[in-house]
Amino acid sequence: VKIAIIKETTAGEKRVAMIPVVAQKLEKLGASIVLEAGAGAAATFPDTAYSKETIEADQTKLLADADIVLAVQPPSVDIVKRMKPGAVLVSFIYARMNTDLVRTLRDSKITTFAMEMIPRISRAQAMDALSSQAALAGYYAPLLASVHMQKILPMMTTAVGSLRAARVLVMGLGVAGLQALATAHRLGAVCEGYDVRPETKEEAESVGAKFVDTGVDARGTGGYARELTDDEKAKVRSVLTQHIAQADMIITTASVPGKRAPRLIDAEQLAGMKEGSVVVDMGAENGGNCEGTQPGDIVKIGPVTLVGPINLPSCLAQQASELYAKNIFNLLEQVLKEGELKPDFTDDVIKGTTLTHDGVITNDAIRQVVE
Ligand code: NAD
Repeated sequence: VKIAIIKETTAGEKRVAMIPVVAQKLEKLGASIVLEAGAGAAATFPDTAYSKETIEADQTKLLADADIVLAVQPPSVDIVKRMKPGAVLVSFIYARMNTDLVRTLRDSKITTFAMEMIPRISRAQAMDALSSQAALAGYYAPLLASVHMQKILPMMTTAVGSLRAARVLVMGLGVAGLQALATAHRLGAVCEGYDVRPETKEEAESVGAKFVDTGVDARGTGGYARELTDDEKAKVRSVLTQHIAQADMIITTASVPGKRAPRLIDAEQLAGMKEGSVVVDMGAENGGNCEGTQPGDIVKIGPVTLVGPINLPSCLAQQASELYAKNIFNLLEQVLKEGELKPDFTDDVIKGTTLTHDGVITNDAIRQVVE
């Protein structure tokens, strides 16, 4: 099979779907790899790093010849239309937000493996691109916040007296939130974590943070959280308001699958924060965890600098690409048999990840949204 690595075109996207060392592992599975010229450059992998792969400057030719196309961001409709009917696309798709794209994938008879749909079961962990990218984004968030602070994070003893350690609150302790807590802790801050899932208490403590206990249990299904009732929300709010008011830095990462980001900090709570404090809202792209967040922008609201980052994994493009490429390799390893494409659509992981196949939207929930 011929595998094409396309150059990302989404503004601000520096990642590439396949890095040189992993491409060579794919070749050992019997694939031949073609790289769109310059595809890895922004992620620190120039064409010359792909020494064993073919470089192709003509994207139309690249797409027309490829049996499998690898991408990071959902590709444009135009790119899909130039793919070979029956070819495979492996990429983030975010189907609910890109319904035109999904219809084009269906009509072009593309087999689509949507990387955000990898089932969150133990066997699929090595393919879980949402987790690999969230871990890096979570690491980066406190660093980003720290450059907007006029304070340091650790305690420091100087000849003129001691500086106190900063207080960091991380709200939402999934993959990203736990990495954010771990980073802030390593930088010497006094850390607190909060989540609606009580099992995160132990996880927060394991990275050196205290857990904010609100007395509300919001465990949902499949390791995710459920939405809270109004009474529960009020109870949580009163406890959280105190912790928000004490923080020098807050990182918010809360999300509920398929829903807009839950609101964790409102305007009143923001106004009650310390002068010079910083909030990094990792829910910015999905409606924001904090009132007033501007996606892709930094705004000053009262005492607070509110940062609404877009695509944090791209800020760490080299290693984000490395982990994403490995996630893709582990998936392709399941569908490539002796150099031939042979997906087993009865396998739970393949079935769960498949969005379109042979002219059909195979995921029921997405088909209802799109058709
Ligand atoms: P996510 O990005 O969907 O959500 C982030 C966090 O926000 C979650 O911890 C959630 O509980 C929390 N949250 C939701 N509503 C909230 C609210 N109102 N207030 C505070 N916090 C709120 O989560 P994620 O990082 O993708 O992972 C969620 C869970 O799934 C984790 O426990 C993770 O370990 C688990 N997981 C399992 C696997 C696997 O088994 N293969 C893979 C990935 C993740």
